[in-house]
Formats: sequence, structure tokens, C-alpha cells
Amino acid sequence: MVSTKDLLTILRCMAAAIEKNKEWLTDLDRPIGDSDHGINMARGFGEVEKKLSGLEGKDGGTILKTVGMTLVSTVGGSAGPLYGSAFMKAGMALADKTEISMADFLDALDQAVDAVRQRGKAQAGEKTMLDAMIPALQAMKEARGQKEAPEEILKKGVEASWAGAEATNGLIATKGRASYVGERGIGHQDPGATSFSILLETICHCKIGKL
Ligand code: ADP
Ligand code: MG
Repeated sequence: MVSTKDLLTILRCMAAAIEKNKEWLTDLDRPIGDSDHGINMARGFGEVEKKLSGLEGKDGGTILKTVGMTLVSTVGGSAGPLYGSAFMKAGMALADKTEISMADFLDALDQAVDAVRQRGKAQAGEKTMLDAMIPALQAMKEARGQKEAPEEILKKGVEASWAGAEATNGLIATKGRASYVGERGIGHQDPGATSFSILLETICHCKIGKL
């Protein structure tokens, strides 16, 4: 189980990880986009970080809803509304919860994937963040089905997420700005799939694998 205090720590780690990888994410967005993914994400998570101390003592739903609303209003681009709705919808799965189990976490991620699918009108294989999110969720659900330990479940999710992000190199985008470059996008990794993998990996690095 993870407490809401741990959740706030994870979100602080996420903000730091995005800031650290800002240039990489922006570089990835250069050949197939408009070179702003890292800048957008760092701006949004910087604003999120400022709100975290005011969220102490709140339930998981309220925390994630606030994160989502902050991202929608500050990230800009496509990633703002997409990550924003993902966090807001994930928050609905954690409504009133002060302790978060692995089952809760997977429910929240399920909702996040659904939110991106709906908002982005996208599916797997379109060279978007979903190409990291969907395999990560699937790998974690499978690991949980095999009764693996929480740390192991998260590790499998992170591995599947990075594998999915790397596989976007071979995909032609059919959604978002990257669709404008079509086949010329082959050989370039999707920035959103990369930022999602960074966020998920942060949960492991944060040493809060107690879910
Ligand atoms: P913008 O493309 O508006 O500049 P960003 O650069 O911040 O926004 O984010 C780009 C990322 O958003 C892409 O790498 C991709 O993962 C994701 N993305 C874009 N459009 C969609 C969509 N329709 N569905 C899902 N994800 C999308
Ligand atoms: Mg961009």
C-alpha cells in the first residue's frame, strides 16, 4: 500500500525527472513535431510541484484531479489535454482513497489509458504515448495475475513501457503533429511514449514499490 504522502513524493519525483529529461524530450519532438514536448511537460510539472504542499492530507482522487487540471491549463500542445485527462480520470479511480493498493493503481492506469484513447481518438500502433501505456498496463496486469510482488509488477511495466516507446521508431504516425511527416518519421521515437516511460520508471526509482 502507498499512502497519499507517498503519492505526493512520487509526484515530486516525476516533476524532477521531467525537468531532468526536458532537453531529451524536446529533441525527440524536433524531427517529428515542433520541438516543445520537454518544454511543455516541464512547465506543467513545474506548476504541479508548486501545488503539492497544499495537497497534503487530501485523498488520492483530489490529488490526481488537481494534477490533471494543472496540466490541462499549463502544458499546452496536445500533451496537456491528454496527460491532463489521463490524471483526472485516474483520479476518479482513487476517489476518497488514502491508501493505494496495486489493484487501485492498475485501475487508475486503466482509466488513464481510456482517457487518452478517448481524448486523442487514438489506438495502439499510431505512434503515440498509447504505444507505451497499453503494453505497460498489459504487462502489469499479467504480472499481477501471476501473483508477482509489487516491485516485480512495476519493473515489468517499466520494461514493457520502454520497449513500447522504442518500438515507436518503426511506426508511422497517424495522429498528432507527427502524422504530418508520415513515413519520414520512421527511425524517430515518439516523445509522448518516452515521457510516459520516464513517469512510470520514476515510480520505481522513487523506491515506493510498496503498492
Ligand atoms: P504538440 O504535438 O501539440 O506539440 P507535445 O509535443 O507536447 O504536443 O506532445 C506530443 C505527443 O503527444 C506525441 O509524442 C504523442 O505521444 C502525443 N499525442 C499527440 N496526439 C495524440 C493523440 N491524438 N492521441 C494520443 N497521443 C497523442
Ligand atoms: Mg510538440
